[in-house]
Amino acid sequence: SKKILGVRNLHVSFKTYAGVVQAVRGVDFYLEKGETLAIVGESGCGKTVTVKTIMGLLPKEQSIVSGEGVEVNFHNKNLLNLSENEMAEIRGNHISMIFQDPMTSLNPTMKIGNQIAESIVIHENKSEEEAKKIALNILELVNIPNAKERINQYPFELSGGMRQRIMIGIALACDPEILIADEPTTALDVTIQAQIMDLIKKLQDKKNTGVILVTHDLGVVASVADRIQVMYAGEVVERGTTNEIFYSPKHPYTFALLESIPKLSDHKQKELYSLVGTPPDLTNPPKGCPFAARCKYAMKICRVKHPEITSFGETQESSCWLHHEKADLSDVSEILLK
Ligand code: SF4
Repeated sequence: SKKILGVRNLHVSFKTYAGVVQAVRGVDFYLEKGETLAIVGESGCGKTVTVKTIMGLLPKEQSIVSGEGVEVNFHNKNLLNLSENEMAEIRGNHISMIFQDPMTSLNPTMKIGNQIAESIVIHENKSEEEAKKIALNILELVNIPNAKERINQYPFELSGGMRQRIMIGIALACDPEILIADEPTTALDVTIQAQIMDLIKKLQDKKNTGVILVTHDLGVVASVADRIQVMYAGEVVERGTTNEIFYSPKHPYTFALLESIPKLSDHKQKELYSLVGTPPDLTNPPKGCPFAARCKYAMKICRVKHPEITSFGETQESSCWLHHEKADLSDVSEILLK
C-alpha cells in the first residue's frame, strides 16, 4: 500500500482551569506517499492539536491522548508509544514540520547559513564544511536570491516570505517522508502565499514527500491539495477529494467555509463563514451534532443524536443527518421557514 501514515480513533483532551477540554474527538485519517492532505477548519477545531500529536509535540503534563485502539501508525510503529528520544529521531529524519511564523522557529541571534548548517549537522552527522555547502544549496533550492550573501545575514534582515522559504528548506533538507505545514502562509500577503504554496508543491513533487497542510482557509489549498478533510469542534465532519469538496460539498459547515473564501471581486473578505454563533464548549460537547447550534438545516434529530456517516462514492464522506437515509427532511423545511 502507498499509505505512509495512519491515524486511528484519536482523542486528545486538555486539563484547563475551566475543566477538561475534549479538543480532538475520534479523528481518523491516512496519508499516502507523495500526496497532499489538507486539514481545514477554524481555530479551535482540533487541527493543530491533531498534527502536534503526530509529532509528539503536545505538553505531556496537561494533555491526555486516548481512544479505543488509538494509533498513529508510521511504518508499522505506533508513534504514541515511542520515547521522547525516538520521537526526536522521527522528527529530525522522517516527519518535518513548519509553522505559521518562521520568526519564532528561527534563532534571531544566529546567521541564516549557520542555522541551516547546524540543523543538518545535528540530524545527519555531516561535517561543518559539508553542512555549509548544503546550506548554500538549500537557499538556492528555495529560490533565495544572492544566496552567498544571504547566508551571512540574520533572520530580521530577510522578508517574511524568505524566512518561510528557509524554514521549508530546513524542513526538507533531511528528505523527510512527511512534511506537516501548519498555516504556513497565514502571516504572509496573498502573492507571497501563492509563491510559498508553489514552492512546497515543487519540492514535494521532486522528492515525493507526503504533505499534511493545516489551514483555516480553504482557498489556500484549492490548487495544491489532493484530498481535504474538514474539521469542526474536534471532529472530522466531511472528507473528500479536492474536487468533491469544492464542487459537491455535502456538509453545511463545508458550505460555510466555501462561502467565506475571498473572491477577487470582493472588496473585503466576508465576515467569517457568515455564520452566526460560536463553536460548542468542548468541556461539555453536545450530545447531538456539534454544528447544530449554527446550522440552518438543523433537524430535531440533530440535537439529540450524533450524526452518522454518509458515504458518497469511494472517497467522500459526511458526518451529517442531512443526506442520511434516517433523516426526516420534513423537519428541515419547518425550521428554514421559521
Ligand atoms: Fe446540520 Fe444536522 Fe447536518 Fe449537523 S447533522 S450539520 S445540524 S443538518
